[in-house]
Amino acid sequence: ATPAATMVGTSIGAQHGVLFEGGDILERVKDVEAVVFDKTGTLTEGEMTLTDARVVTPAADGAVPSDAEADVPADVTKEFLLEVAATAESGSEHPIGEAIVAGARERGTRVGDLDVLQNVSGRGIRGRTEHGTVVVGKPDLLADEGVETDPARDAMADLEEEGKTAVLVALDGELLGVLAVADEVKPSAREAVSALRERDVTVHMITGDNERTARAVAREVGIDEANVRAGVLPEDKADAVEAIQADGSRAMMVGDGVNDAPALATAFVGVAIGSGTDVAIEAADVTLMRSDPRDVVKAINVSEGTLTKIK
Ligand code: ADP
Ligand code: MG
Repeated sequence: ATPAATMVGTSIGAQHGVLFEGGDILERVKDVEAVVFDKTGTLTEGEMTLTDARVVTPAADGAVPSDAEADVPADVTKEFLLEVAATAESGSEHPIGEAIVAGARERGTRVGDLDVLQNVSGRGIRGRTEHGTVVVGKPDLLADEGVETDPARDAMADLEEEGKTAVLVALDGELLGVLAVADEVKPSAREAVSALRERDVTVHMITGDNERTARAVAREVGIDEANVRAGVLPEDKADAVEAIQADGSRAMMVGDGVNDAPALATAFVGVAIGSGTDVAIEAADVTLMRSDPRDVVKAINVSEGTLTKIK
């Protein structure tokens, strides 16, 4: 394109809240054959709300309680489950942690004192609290701590089938129960996916969340199950993009989080959601100021020169 055409394209993009990093990026976007969306905060609002608390203790399940020196009451209540989890998450900045703390406060549940918080990236948290050592997160994280997580399997599956994200809570090595948080799919996500598919662009989703929740969200927005990669650890998101590009196809990665930055840099084009983290915006080639997934389609239209100026 001529420098004049580039200037026009860049300015039309800006009018639509689509910021291209430079002229070569503007050129490149139209050649994208696959779009890879991050789930949380990109296809979904990224604002989690606590929806469920289910007590699942080994004793409640009929299993023999372990003889850990745990200070776990014999009859764990929902309120205790929530108090313990919220206390541990009170230092967390993760949307799941924030939802648990907010959910506890709304329900008038006490949030206790937290001594030390340890984030286990992409898996959960470990907190030293006034109640004892609390672990909140994925089953494999708790299993690594020697917690028996089997009794919670059915409860987790039920909640995940509804598209919710379920996390387990353990206190001093003993399972207490399951909490679930839900995140609304952006109303425009479905439209964005169908517009891309109409143009023969393959649509994928990558997420650190579990398989069942990921598939439920994919179904809701119209992404093929075969194109969903779930349980991807933050450090593996870039590899997942490389795998999609392995056959030579040019992929656009769209994400919002710190954990998406390497994948944004790896993709043929990296697109950051404007409401996302600075790290993602810095790593990206294009930023969508309106945080609307439909603006991915606008970016392609601008690149093709088929979107005209707003008068
Ligand atoms: P995403 O890729 O969807 O943005 P993350 O990589 O941040 O997700 O987290 C992946 C998973 O790790 C979550 O779905 C959850 O199971 C677990 N997890 C992460 N942080 C926390 C936390 N603070 N509390 C509980 N679980 C967490
Ligand atoms: Mg995200």
